[in-house]
Order: sequence, then C-alpha cells, then structure tokens
Amino acid sequence: MCSGCDDPNHVAATFDRRNLLIGSAGLAATGLIANAASAKTKETTADLGPTAAHAWAATDKSNFAPMKIQRRALGPNDVRMEILYCGICHSDIHMVREEWMPAHYPMVPGHEIIGRVTAVGPKVTKFRIGDIGGVGCMVDSCGYCVECLADREHACLNGMTLTYASPDKISGGTTQGGYSTGIVVTEKFVIRIPPGVNLAGMAPLLCAGITTFSPLQHWKASRGMKVGVIGLGGLGHMAVKLAVAKGADVTVFTTSPGKQAAALLMGAREAILWSDQTKMHSFGPDFDLIIAAVPQAFPIQPFMNLLKTDATLVNVGTLEAIDGYNAMMNNTARRNLSGSMIGGIAETQEVVDFCAARGITADVELIRPDQIATAFDRVVGKDVKFRFVIDMAKA
Ligand SMILES: [Zn+2]
Ligand SMILES: [Zn+2]
Repeated sequence: MCSGCDDPNHVAATFDRRNLLIGSAGLAATGLIANAASAKTKETTADLGPTAAHAWAATDKSNFAPMKIQRRALGPNDVRMEILYCGICHSDIHMVREEWMPAHYPMVPGHEIIGRVTAVGPKVTKFRIGDIGGVGCMVDSCGYCVECLADREHACLNGMTLTYASPDKISGGTTQGGYSTGIVVTEKFVIRIPPGVNLAGMAPLLCAGITTFSPLQHWKASRGMKVGVIGLGGLGHMAVKLAVAKGADVTVFTTSPGKQAAALLMGAREAILWSDQTKMHSFGPDFDLIIAAVPQAFPIQPFMNLLKTDATLVNVGTLEAIDGYNAMMNNTARRNLSGSMIGGIAETQEVVDFCAARGITADVELIRPDQIATAFDRVVGKDVKFRFVIDMAKA
C-alpha cells in the first residue's frame, strides 16, 4: 500500500503496468517488480496517489544500478506519464561525472523524455490519458518573474527546477529524471507531442532540438544566410537539420572524418575537418551565424575569424571558459560571441511542432537501460550517430 492513498494495490498497480510494458523477464529477475502478479491491471483517473517507478541511477561517476523511486501524488495541474523513451544528453555525462558541479548520488539523469499520459490532475486541460507528452530540461519555475512572464522559464530569476539533480520545490528532496519508467510533472512543463511522429526520434528535440532551435530563431536563420555548425554530435546534427529546414546555407566543422558524409545527407553544403588548416584558411569572413555545439572548450578564434562584420558565434555546447578569444581580431570587425541555453516552454513546443510538420527527427540509436554506462563512454568517444535514446520497452 502506498503512503498517500487508501488503495492497498496502488504501488503494485504501477508495477503491473510496467510489467505489461516490458514483458517482465529482465526486471522481474531483479525483484523490483515483486507483487506484480497479484496487482491490478488498470489505472483509473481516480488513481492520483504517489507511485513507484523503476529508475536507472548513477551510483558514482561510472556505474549505474536499478533502483525504485517514488513519484509524487498528482496535484490539480499535474500529469503522470509512463516514460517510453529518454535521450542521453552529453549534459547527463557532465553531471554524473561531476564535470560541472558536485553530484549527489544516486542520481537519475535524463531530460529528453517522451511518455504516455497515464493520469491527470483534476485541473489539467492540455492532456488526456493516452496522450503523448514530452519533458525537457526543466519541470518548474516561479511563473511570475519577468523572465517567466516573457516565456523564458529557463531563465527564471527565482531559479527554474531542473528535471533532475535540482532541489524539488514541490516534493522536497532532489528531482530525478527520465532514466526511469514514470514521472509526474505539472502540465505547463509538458510538451504536446503531435500524433503520428517517430517518438524515439522526437525525444532529443526536448533538449538538443530546443537548444539549437532557439538561437536559430533569435538570430533569424533563413534563406540566404550562411550558417556554420561546429561539432556534429547530438546538438550539432539538430542544428544542421533545423538550419537547413530554415533554408540556410550550412557548413559543418567536425573532428570526425566518419561524420562528413552524414552531414551532407542532412543537407549541409559542405562538411570539413577543422584540423584541415588549408581548408580553414580558404574561408573568407562571410558567415552570418555560427553555432558552436562542442561539449568541451576549444580554440574559438579560428571560427570567430570566419564571421562577417557584426555577425555572431553562439556557443550552445561548453560551459567551460572560452579558449583563445582575441579582442584585436574581433573588435576590428565588431564580431559577437554569445551563448544560449535551451529555451522556454512555448519555444520548445514550437520546435516540436516545427519538426513534426516537416518530418524532422533526431538520428537515434536505441539502447536498453542496462547499456547506459557503455553509451556514456561511446558518447565521450564520439562513437554515436547521433543520439542514444533509451527504449524503456527494452528493459
Ligand atoms: Zn541536454
Ligand atoms: Zn520565474
């Protein structure tokens, strides 16, 4: 019996639904879904109490282990989702490996979430049971500051709540993310996923998609503009697809010879190795906009030199100190170095709708939850085309 309702089968019912989803064999063996056989088989709209979910948590910098977590009882505006897919973002690796800040283990990462709605609070208007929703990098913000009122919840002056590893202002404790089978999120922070789309391929839009779409919108990428994309990983490949969809003339700068052909297939005019000094020096200062989607710091000035007067390089990748900025070179042409991080909820809905209308998805490789640690290593080794997505049905 769960702690928040009078239904003696409540937690067990959640496990049973999970059991139906995954076919039971793997996780049943772990003992985490004990009681499933005697549980109820259907959830009802009245079932709004707290629920248990299976999660795959980082227990230290390099190991993951299955664990059971509690999701809160639904408030009036809350949506509960059974998670179907969750992308693996390079941010997850930075967080687990304490490359940005100290970690609190166990940590359940994951902020590229696609799920099926299984329960809604009484005041929910955006979703019905059975709808598909998406959750990105944040699950809450104050709602009244100037940034929230301008649809920039990610810049909330009172601090947004990250989907994981963030103080949970509603339930207390720390938020836990999408490497799990279920989540509860207030409906405002759940994105509507249009019917008929490739759900696994939509998951990365919730972070990689919005992170690259937002600067392309802000700097008005459009036909006739020459746009550069540095780095062809999860973010970079979305930047290419989105910039091409907006009609821009796209050049990709990569360190991976094996990714050049893929960039052309995505619609880039050319894809060059930035280690090729001859090729790098062959460009004039004729780029209108460059998106840097590299997860670590790298020498920035060779790319700043490619910008037209007044043009902008937007860093959406590294959060480290920018390396090698040369004021002499940049001041003379009034070049801009800027940055951008995810985007607001309305803009996240916009990129999902933009992609759904055009058949754009991320290129994904599906994995099982027990392959997360290996996938992390492969991402760091640039051995993924172009986003790992955890398929919860493969658990
Ligand atoms: Zn991310
Ligand atoms: Zn706010």
